Amino acid sequence: MSQNPLTQAQTQLDQVAEILAKEYTDRSADFKTALQKLHEPQHLHEGSIEITRDSGKKQSFQAFRSQHNNAIGPYKGGIRFHPGVTREEVMALSMWMTWKCSVVGIPYGGGKGGIIVDPHELSPAEIQELSRAYVQFLGQAIGPWRDIPAPDVNTTPEIMAWMADEWQQLHGSSAVNPLASFTGKPIELGGSEGRGEATGLGGVYVLQQLAQQMSWKRPQDVTIAIQGFGNVGYWFAHHADLLGYKVVAVSDSKQAIYVPTGLNPEKTLACKRETGSLSECRCTERSCSSEHGEILTNEQLLELDVDVLVPAALENVITTENAGRIKASVIIEMANGPISPEAEEQLHQQNILVVPDVLANAGGVSTSYFEWIQNLSGQVWSRDEVLAKLEPLMVRAFDAVWKRQQVLDGKTMRVAAYSLAVKRVIDAMLLRGS
Ligand code: NAD
Repeated sequence: MSQNPLTQAQTQLDQVAEILAKEYTDRSADFKTALQKLHEPQHLHEGSIEITRDSGKKQSFQAFRSQHNNAIGPYKGGIRFHPGVTREEVMALSMWMTWKCSVVGIPYGGGKGGIIVDPHELSPAEIQELSRAYVQFLGQAIGPWRDIPAPDVNTTPEIMAWMADEWQQLHGSSAVNPLASFTGKPIELGGSEGRGEATGLGGVYVLQQLAQQMSWKRPQDVTIAIQGFGNVGYWFAHHADLLGYKVVAVSDSKQAIYVPTGLNPEKTLACKRETGSLSECRCTERSCSSEHGEILTNEQLLELDVDVLVPAALENVITTENAGRIKASVIIEMANGPISPEAEEQLHQQNILVVPDVLANAGGVSTSYFEWIQNLSGQVWSRDEVLAKLEPLMVRAFDAVWKRQQVLDGKTMRVAAYSLAVKRVIDAMLLRGS
C-alpha cells in the first residue's frame, strides 16, 4: 500500500463523508460526531503473549485485536499470523471489515486480529499453543455475541478448532453453543458446507450481475484472466467456466498461463497438483498440453487484452506503474486491496470499471455468517441450502451498489459501495443515540 493503511482507510472515509454530509443536513452535528468515532476502532486489544517452545525456551509474541464498530452487530473478522502484522494494519483491516459486512447487509461490525509471527518457524504444537494463548489473552472480549473471529492469512480451519475449543474451556457452554465463537471451522466441528468455494462463487454471482448491466449477451464471448489460482482464484475460475465464460489465463506465484481458446480449470488444477507447475498445464477442454497456450509472467497476465481481469492473489498488484497498460474493461477485485488508490483514479479516467473488494469478495464473510447462524440455531444446512442463501444476498448487494453509483454519477463503484456501507453504519449509530 502506498501509505500507512490506517491513514488510507481514514482518507477513504473522509472522501465518502463529503458525499454523505448532504444527506444529514438536518442532523449535521450528530453526523459529525458519528463520523469522528468511525475514524478509530472502538477497542484495540494489544499485548504480549507467551508460549513455551518445543526446546523448553519461553518466547513472546505481540498480539492485536481491533474492534472497529458494533452499531449493527458483533465484531467479525479474521486473525492473521504474519511477521508483517502491525497495529495500523489491523486497525485499518477492521474498519474495512465494517464496510464489507455493511455492504452485504449482514448484522456484524468489523474486527481484525493478528500476531506478529512467522508460523513457518513454529511446530504444529507451538502453533496450537500460540492459538490458545491468543484466546486467553482476549478473554471476555470475544465470543458469539461480542466478536466472532475467522481465518485469515496463515490461519486455518484447524486453528479455528483449537481457538473455539479454548474459548469453550474458558467460558463454558451453558448459554450458547461455544462453537459459534469462531467461524471458518472444519465441517466436522461446526463449519459450514460451501464455505470453501463461497468467496470465488460470490465473485461469480457479481460477474453474472455485471453481465446483465454491461449487456454481455453470451458468456462464451467474455474472456477472463485471473491472477492467482489458490482458493479464491480456482473457485472463481471453476464457477465462471461452468456458466460458459471463457477463462483464458490463470497464474500462481511463479508464472501465468494463457490459453486463448479457453482453459479447463479442473484439468489445470489436477495437472498442477500432479506436476507441481502451471507451465505444464495449458489445458483445453480435451487435454493438457504445452501446445495449447503460452507461458506469461504475472505482470503480462494483468495486461492481457481480456474483458474481465480478476486479481485474486495479493494486494497492490495494480499501481500507477502498470495501470496505463491495463486493457480489460472490468476488474473484479477478489483479493483484498489489489489496486492502489492512485491507480484506481487512473483506471477510472481510462473508463475501466472496478468492482471493489468489499463487494466482490464478500461471499466469504457472508458464508461465515451462515455458519454462525447454524451454530446458534443448532441447524446443519446442505451446500445447496447455503448457496441458495448466498446468491440473493450477493445479488441484492450488487444491485444496491450499482444503483448508488448511478445516483452518484461520475464516482467509482468503490465510492458507491463505501457510501452505502458508511451510511448504514451511521444510521445505526444515530438510531442508537450513542
Ligand atoms: P491462497 O493462498 O489460497 O491463494 C493465493 C494464490 O496467489 C496462489 O495461487 C498463489 O500461488 C498466488 N500468488 C502468491 N504470490 C503471488 C504473486 N507474487 N503473484 C501472483 N500470484 C501469487 O489465498 P486465497 O484464500 O485464495 O486468497 C487470495 C486473496 O483473496 C487474498 O488477498 C485474500 O485476502 C483474499 N480473500 C480471500 C478470502 C477467502 O475466503 N479465502 C476471502 C476474502 C478475501
